[in-house]
Formats: sequence, structure tokens, C-alpha cells
Amino acid sequence: MRKESVAVVGAGTAGLIAARSMAAAGIKTVVYDQKPVPGERIHASGILSLTGLETLGMDYTKAMTNTLKGANIHAGGKTMRIRSAEPVAVVLDRKRLNGLCIENAEKAGAEVEVGRRISGRDIDAFARDNIIIGADGAVSTVAKHFGMGSIGSYSITYKQEYNVPITEPDVVDLFFDNKSWPGLFAWLCPNAKDLLEVGVGTTDHSVNSRHVLERFLDRRDVSDIIGVGKPVVGGASIIPMSRRRSIVDPVKEVLLVGDAAGQIKATTGGGIIFGSNAALMAAYAAREHIRNGADLSVYERMFMSKYGTEMRLHSMINRFYSSLGPGAIGRIISISKAIGMEGFLGKYGDMDRPSLVLKRFFLRGFAD
Ligand SMILES: Cc1cc2nc3c(=O)[nH]c(=O)nc-3n(C[C@H](O)[C@H](O)[C@H](O)COP(=O)(O)OP(=O)(O)OC[C@H]3O[C@@H](n4cnc5c(N)ncnc54)[C@H](O)[C@@H]3O)c2cc1C
Repeated sequence: MRKESVAVVGAGTAGLIAARSMAAAGIKTVVYDQKPVPGERIHASGILSLTGLETLGMDYTKAMTNTLKGANIHAGGKTMRIRSAEPVAVVLDRKRLNGLCIENAEKAGAEVEVGRRISGRDIDAFARDNIIIGADGAVSTVAKHFGMGSIGSYSITYKQEYNVPITEPDVVDLFFDNKSWPGLFAWLCPNAKDLLEVGVGTTDHSVNSRHVLERFLDRRDVSDIIGVGKPVVGGASIIPMSRRRSIVDPVKEVLLVGDAAGQIKATTGGGIIFGSNAALMAAYAAREHIRNGADLSVYERMFMSKYGTEMRLHSMINRFYSSLGPGAIGRIISISKAIGMEGFLGKYGDMDRPSLVLKRFFLRGFAD
């Protein structure tokens, strides 16, 4: 007998966006989350491109705390300054964003059950009558339960916020240093005009991410900015840096979305735009399966067709800079500046879609 309802494990952005879409199509959808208040104590940031946000079909303005026009990229003693004429990204408060996603899912008719950790036994019980969507983050119980393979690479992170005056409140600073924090970077992000987020991510799992952050804070240029500011809130987390081998099992009727599927950009660790778009595709596949018996594998094909190239390019760029020593990165920055890359990226940079930037560069070079 064909299943007619969906159980979503995980009320993060991906699970809730999938639930909103399915409930709006009249499908009975229940979302479960272990936290009493999903979205609380997320030790992650919320920098999202404006072009990416447009694809999510939601009003995010109530969660917005800042807008961004550029980035300083620091590496090997050199700095590249990229500026756009208009804001290209926003900073969203993750707790408020999650709250908005819950509101939207419930308004569309989904049920959200909080404070319940879902076990393998629960999943088996749900699977009798429901399609299962695993939106339960990087360490996914759903993926493990159905043997959907592992995620090859993770970054460990630590971030803290400080109440300090910020001189350039629409610019984020990224510090690349493969010796101190290989695989990702350290950052200073103005979450609001006087709230600075300081964070670090690394693929070196032999270290304590908090200690790595402390080393970053000891740098003269960083400690000068923080001054005597005291941390407001902080914590550790992880970022999946590669895709899970399998994201859909059409026979067992299971789909994975968001961090559970490893749908992140390996250059930055940003996962909300790709993961939420995947959630919309998974919701479409579940709907077509329920209504017309369509094969759930369409979900993976849709995702790879829209994001496969971008995911591969993000991984290639990440692998490339992860292989460089400080001297080489410094030289690349010097050459990039000399050939006008700062101006080019200010105009045509795209934090989600490197393929568009490359296409523009190879087709037209620096010409306007
Ligand atoms: C330091 C840091 C900075 C980041 N910065 C950015 C950024 O600037 N921009 C960006 O786009 N992305 C960023 N990310 C990535 C982003 O946070 C994730 O990609 C995003 O949160 C993934 O959403 P999700 O819904 O897939 O999973 P999650 O947000 O992890 O949600 C999973 C939910 O599942 C619940 N859950 C897990 N297991 C169970 C269970 N067994 N039973 C019930 N519930 C369960 C959890 O409680 C949680 O609420 C950052 C991440 C980190 C760590």
C-alpha cells in the first residue's frame, strides 16, 4: 500500500522547509526534534547570499541582523579587499530564522513535535506508514539507521560573540592559515553593528577547536580589535565538508536533506542555501511519490543537476587552498591583486555559484 504521509526527523532549516512545502501541498507531515526549542544554542553563523535567499521563498527579514558588502581575505601576510557597490549578503540570527521556519511550517499545516529524540526503533515505527526525511544534521541517526554511508570529511569549529564597536560593519574578515587551522579558516563577522563574531574551523581533528580559537584571539591584529571585550556567547560544532554517499533510498522510502546529506559548500562550510533547496526538491519528490507513485530517486537527480557542479567546484577550490603553504597563498593573493581580481570579484563574485564566476572570467576576462 502506498504511504501517504511523511515523518521528518530534525527541525533545523532543512527539515522545516521540506515540511512547509509538503504540508502546503496537503500532505500530512510531522517534524520531530530532540530540542525543546529547535534553533536554540546553534553554534553556527548565518551569512547567506541575497541571491540564495531568494530561492527559499520565505520572508527572512525578521531574522536579519546585518547586511554585508564585502570581505577581506588575509593569508600569508597579504590581504585582498573585495567590495561590492550594494549589499550581497545578510547575516541572520539563527534562532530567529529557525523560529520563522517553524512558524511557516505550522502555518502550512505541518505538526512540529519538540523535545523528542528519535531512536532507531522510532524510525522503524514511522517507516511502516511514512516516507522518512532525515534532516537530523551531520551526525544523522536516520542515515546511520538505513546504512546510507558516511561523510568523508568534517571541520570542527568554535565561535564566540563579543560586544565591541566595529569599524567596518559591512565587511567580513577571513584568515587562511593551513598551519594553524588547515582545511577551513578563521573569521571575524559583524553579526550586528556592535556584535562581532569570532570563529575558527579546521579539518585537523587532533586539536581542541576552542584552543585553536584562543590562538587566533592572541594574534595582535585580532586582539587589537576585540580589546577588553568579553565573550557574550560561544560554543563548538561541526561542519560536514563532503557529500554523503547516498542521499535517497527509493526502496526504503528515505531521503536525506541538509547537513545529514552533507549538502554544504566546502569553501566556506555554508549549508543553508544548498540544504534548503535540496529540502524543497525532496518535498517535491515525496509529493510526486505519494500522488503518482513516482520514483523517489528523482530527488538526487534534481539536486545533482542544480548543485552537482557547484559542489564539485567548491570542493576543488577547498582542496587547492588546503594544499598551499603560507608563501604560496601570499603569492597568489599578490598576483590576484596585480591583475585586478579584487575589482572583478567585487562586481561578479558569487559565494554560492563559483561556476558563474568562472564562466564570466573565462568568457570575458576583466572586460566590463
Ligand atoms: C560555526 C559554523 C558556522 C556556519 N556558518 C554558516 C553560514 O554562515 N551560512 C550557512 O549557510 N551555513 C553556515 N553553517 C552551516 C549551517 O549551520 C548548516 O548547514 C545548517 O544548520 C544545516 O541545517 P540542517 O537543518 O540540515 O541541520 P541542523 O541545523 O543541524 O538541524 C538538525 C536538527 O536535527 C535535530 N536532531 C538531530 N538528531 C536528532 C534525533 N535523533 N531526534 C530528533 N532530532 C534530532 C537537532 O536537534 C537539530 O535541530 C555554519 C556551521 C557552523 C558549525
